[in-house]
Amino acid sequence: MHKFIFVVGGVMSSVGKGVAAASTAKILQSRGFKVTNVKCDMYINIDAGTIRPTEHGEVFVGIDGIEADQDLGNYERFTGNTMTAKNYITTGQVYQEVIRRERNLEFGGEDVEVVPDIPNEIIRRLNVAAEEDGAEITIVEFGGTVGEYQVLLFLEAARMMKLANPEDVAITLVSYLPVPSHVGEMKTKPTQHASRTLNEAGLQADFIIARGPHKLDKPRRDRLATFCNMRDGYAISAPDVSSIYQVPLMFEEEDFGDKLLKTLHLEGPGKNLEDWKKFVDHTMALEKPVKIGVVGKYFGTGDYTLSDSYISVIESIKHAAWANDRKPELVWIDAEAFERDPTSVETLREFDGILVPGGFGERGVDGIMKTIEFAREEKIPYFGICYGMQLACIEAVRNIGGKTKANTTEVDKETPDPVVYLNPLQASNVIEKKYGATMRLGAYACNLAEGSLARQIYGQDSVSERHRHRYEFNNDYTKTLEECGLFISGSNPDTGLAEIVERRDHPFFVGVQFHPEFQSRPETPHPVFGAFIKASVENAE
Ligand code: GLN
Repeated sequence: MHKFIFVVGGVMSSVGKGVAAASTAKILQSRGFKVTNVKCDMYINIDAGTIRPTEHGEVFVGIDGIEADQDLGNYERFTGNTMTAKNYITTGQVYQEVIRRERNLEFGGEDVEVVPDIPNEIIRRLNVAAEEDGAEITIVEFGGTVGEYQVLLFLEAARMMKLANPEDVAITLVSYLPVPSHVGEMKTKPTQHASRTLNEAGLQADFIIARGPHKLDKPRRDRLATFCNMRDGYAISAPDVSSIYQVPLMFEEEDFGDKLLKTLHLEGPGKNLEDWKKFVDHTMALEKPVKIGVVGKYFGTGDYTLSDSYISVIESIKHAAWANDRKPELVWIDAEAFERDPTSVETLREFDGILVPGGFGERGVDGIMKTIEFAREEKIPYFGICYGMQLACIEAVRNIGGKTKANTTEVDKETPDPVVYLNPLQASNVIEKKYGATMRLGAYACNLAEGSLARQIYGQDSVSERHRHRYEFNNDYTKTLEECGLFISGSNPDTGLAEIVERRDHPFFVGVQFHPEFQSRPETPHPVFGAFIKASVENAE
């Protein structure tokens, strides 16, 4: 029998439902259960690949190439499990499948109805995920909040599952308890409304995760118990914390795991987060900083959106800094500032290392070029990811090779020196406007050149890394690149595509075509991030 825990949001989004779902999985996993996670997103998009990162946050890529919601990144980082397409469900996928079956006469002449056929398809998918991951407990997170029109059919699926197997389904409402400044006390009323909205959908929350600026006090607990039908102790305090990795510990302080097991009629060992606590305590005690400047675009819409767009990069820097006994200090630098005032690139000198993450389009590219040139000449550790690798190649060919018009065809279709270009397979996708799920996506092998820094860093001669890009380094320029001091130290064994470039005349100058940030874990940082931070620490010293 599979057990399911549904995690739904109340009052407002962005209060940490994803971290709550990931932490729930972590707690149960630490107690010896086989767990998995599923994220359900309410939009019609088939996947997150076609949504602007400033709209939706980072697009997380699975080994199978799924372009998913960033919460899958939290699930992977907290549990070490690998998420694939089955772990990510959107309304679009559900409807697409129901309509496909209807066209195939699979409904045997019946009319196809929104209820129950849509919830039935959701339930089928949840069972497939649980089955394929061999999970005893599946934690299912619904995007958005209760009361939104589009979440109704997903709530209906949860209701049908709970009705059929009441002992196998638990409902967690992650809700927000504001402290209005003119009142100065935590208000439960919005959560009471959210709880009642859930009741209208035929569901009763077993737990309320009470997000807010501080802990629940006795009167608040009592009020949630009375007005939201909560058992004593089943409203779990979740005050703001400085590190998301504290959240499982915080939940277990209130014996969340014991209570979950009781609700699901499971027997299991008690809490077991000692090692995790040691890890978290170590990270919190670090004082000596490593200062990393992250240069890119997507910087116009305020800090919140920004950090969401690059969440896996941010987490990877943290993991690597902690492993090097340093407190990560990240500064976001808008590449366009260097276009407005080229001399301001000098401000980069204060950083121990410079990272240029992935990106698309032409905005900010000139500023990134100045950044790369500066890091290269001043021998500041440089780590370029995806676009950051492509632009590093172009920078070298332009400024060292003297081909001043070298470019990526993403920015200049007519460039005489297309150092980065659309290879023929991709060109047809663009011409035919087939944009959804057609980039080079998911895990590909990368062979590491003998004697290279890359091979030394990984300690292996071949690795597998995840991709998400449309353009490629143009191998016609391999020799030119080498003449400019950049050599290809990693390439795909089947296609010969360039995967890693590095300089020998620099303390650390590495560009990777893939996205290593998707495979970094808190306790096992990604090797290239680790090496970059190590070089940055050495640079600082
Ligand atoms: N825009 C580049 C491409 O499509 C890089 C993509 C990225 O950085 N993720 O190839």
